Amino acid sequence: MTLNAKSDRAPGGDVRLSGISKTYGSFTAVHPLDLTIPEGSFFALLGASGCGKTTTLRMIAGLEDPSTGTVFLGERDVTDLPPYKRPVNTVFQSYALFPHLDIFENVAFGLRRRGVKSVKKQVGEMLELVQLGDKAKHKPHQLSGGQQQRVAVARALINHPQVLLLDEPLGALDLKLRRQMQLELKRIQTEVGITFVHVTHDQEEAMTMADTVAVMNGGRVEQLGAPADLYENPRTTFVANFLGTSNLIEAEVVESAKDVTVTAGGGRLRLPAERCSAPATTGGKLLVGIRPEKISLTHRDDEASIADGRNKVRGRVVDSSFIGVSTQYVVDGPAGSGLQVYEQNIERDTRLVPGAEVVLHWNPAHTFGLDAAQAIDAGVETVEDAS
Ligand code: ATP
Repeated sequence: MTLNAKSDRAPGGDVRLSGISKTYGSFTAVHPLDLTIPEGSFFALLGASGCGKTTTLRMIAGLEDPSTGTVFLGERDVTDLPPYKRPVNTVFQSYALFPHLDIFENVAFGLRRRGVKSVKKQVGEMLELVQLGDKAKHKPHQLSGGQQQRVAVARALINHPQVLLLDEPLGALDLKLRRQMQLELKRIQTEVGITFVHVTHDQEEAMTMADTVAVMNGGRVEQLGAPADLYENPRTTFVANFLGTSNLIEAEVVESAKDVTVTAGGGRLRLPAERCSAPATTGGKLLVGIRPEKISLTHRDDEASIADGRNKVRGRVVDSSFIGVSTQYVVDGPAGSGLQVYEQNIERDTRLVPGAEVVLHWNPAHTFGLDAAQAIDAGVETVEDAS
């Protein structure tokens, strides 16, 4: 199939946004943005509702005119090209299939419109790619949501776009189907090798699929990187809280060398200086971050068994939830309240119930430091956000 091999494709290149912005009256939806999306990558624009991710995608598609800046595809400036003249196709949340046409004709549509006479081979290959070869004669309403979305992807890919834009394509699917489709889309992207730009508010979805994730907040890209890098090394409280869960502890720097030593809630903690994304000046403040799965929980009676050199914080269990693979604890202590700990269920200590006095401890190397001038709860999802 033509799309399969990189060398077979028309010379393309990266998607490059240079200083693009979008304002509506006095409201800025996207602040001037410079962004390069490497050719052949699976790129996710991730952020909460209203952060400007769809607007950014629509500017790449040509569905929205930027207020400033330039959109390049490779070396080509496409800013003034209408959508249909850009080598780009978009898949939306609503599949927008033609209800009266069967699946074969839905996929063939783009080819027929361009006057291509023999469509059978290409459509057949596309249907195989999305594993719907046996559904060619079905009508859209006879397919599940996930299958319909795969038809929409096949219909977009048959036009051989240089870039496929996906605007919350899995938003209408239930959770289980969404998880399956994430793997399916990733497989399709790997197979065809073209650039996918995927917009989502679901951090797990972005991390599962994308090579690179741009976390957007308030019309700006707050941080960009590989999923594991963003997760392990968040540079802002928003990214630390929006991507998974972080414990952020307010601390004061008492010594700053290769390791930074801080005090928090009367105790001392250490972290590597290279993991601080803000200057750690003696006497200054720092937010100390630690992911819940990096923490071990020990009953206070066994405190002496904790190895030397670990960061330690005392507290009391206020809540525990058994969720099969792990137990999630919430602990209040002098260093902070609502600290979260995820313990794998290997050897469960039955004493660790609400009310138990405990010590949270972890390897100092797993600790990161953030600028204390930021809102500590930026990016924390509330019950209202989730509904
Ligand atoms: P969602 O996931 O809810 O679509 P988003 O991150 O994709 O959110 P955008 O759709 O890019 O956000 O919108 C960014 C901001 O721009 C929002 O506050 C939105 O209300 C505003 N906006 C979008 N389109 C218009 C418009 N045509 N006129 C005025 N404001 C707009």
